[in-house]
Amino acid sequence: MRKKISILGSTGSIGRQALEVIEGLNDKFEIVALTGGSNTDLLNEQIRKFKPKYAYASDIKAIEGAKPLSLEEICSNKENDIILVAVSGKIGLKPTITTIKNGIDIALANKETLVMAGDIVMPMARKERVSIIPVDSEHCAIHQCIKDISQVEKLIITASGGPFLRKSIDDMKNATVEEALAHPRWHMGKKITVDSATLMNKGLEVIEAHHLFGMDYHKIEVVVHPQSIVHSAIEYVDGSVIAQLGLPSMHIPIQYAITYPERYKGIKSKSFSFSEIARLDFEKPDLKKFKALDLAYSAGQKGGSAPVCLNAANEEAVFAFLNGQIKLFDIVEITENMMKEHRTLKNIGLDDIFAIDNEIRVKARERIKKISL
Ligand code: MG
Repeated sequence: MRKKISILGSTGSIGRQALEVIEGLNDKFEIVALTGGSNTDLLNEQIRKFKPKYAYASDIKAIEGAKPLSLEEICSNKENDIILVAVSGKIGLKPTITTIKNGIDIALANKETLVMAGDIVMPMARKERVSIIPVDSEHCAIHQCIKDISQVEKLIITASGGPFLRKSIDDMKNATVEEALAHPRWHMGKKITVDSATLMNKGLEVIEAHHLFGMDYHKIEVVVHPQSIVHSAIEYVDGSVIAQLGLPSMHIPIQYAITYPERYKGIKSKSFSFSEIARLDFEKPDLKKFKALDLAYSAGQKGGSAPVCLNAANEEAVFAFLNGQIKLFDIVEITENMMKEHRTLKNIGLDDIFAIDNEIRVKARERIKKISL
């Protein structure tokens, strides 16, 4: 029996790599639907190759070779055994919720879902008995290490440190977009690469880990590990530490998430060799240089609407940086100021989350305009 899968965001970085994984597992998967945004040329190419029944794109009329359906319709289609949510941004949230309500398992690569609405999404998934398998390498690592969460003392999330790990604060202040996008270990989309340069990405991952594994923030530790070989680890109450290691390729966690609980050889090309890697280094993150990390911990600890504010302000500022409107350090400064002004609301519903998200984005854009004048 082939596993039936739909990929939301098949033209993005994770989506394209997921299709490479599926191609390498030739007869294991049947693709139900593929969805893209504005890159309909690539989507149509993927449709010709992988022959999904359904597809969605922002210009639905441009789809060739598959029946156009809305994201909602794709996520309520019970032909799916699993849906890979690989869209980036808040547009990932509603389709994820629809998928859960329809009892379909999820391979989750969308950060915003848990950062913005972890308190809603996780209880809903438990109620509907839906598995949420994380795609992000760190959470995928923790997922592989954990047997019994009640025996876990702490989660240890690794961070490569990004392109500015060995640079001074001044270098980082004046960094160009090209420098920020030159990530030493991982090839990813632009937004997440900038987040990796400020370490906001790690902060968002801490919030996700809190929701995914139900772990208190004081039991989640971030350690810088420049080689990106240890993808994360857990410490059990008895002092045993279990880590997951592997070469830094997104193919591995993507394949794990969509084939779980099975494992296959797939497209893995190289065998792991400790002697070739030779050394693994670890150090504490420099919180003066990477203020985003503390900011994310405090947003997570406040809970409610605070992570919504953090995420929205940061995303708007990252876009402004990529457009050349502000400097790299302004991203975290804008986010910090927006957090200071924000009054945290508790017990919020989905509609509140989207309203707060909008409100913060408007305010953030105003602030960006002032700075960039
Ligand atoms: Mg990651």
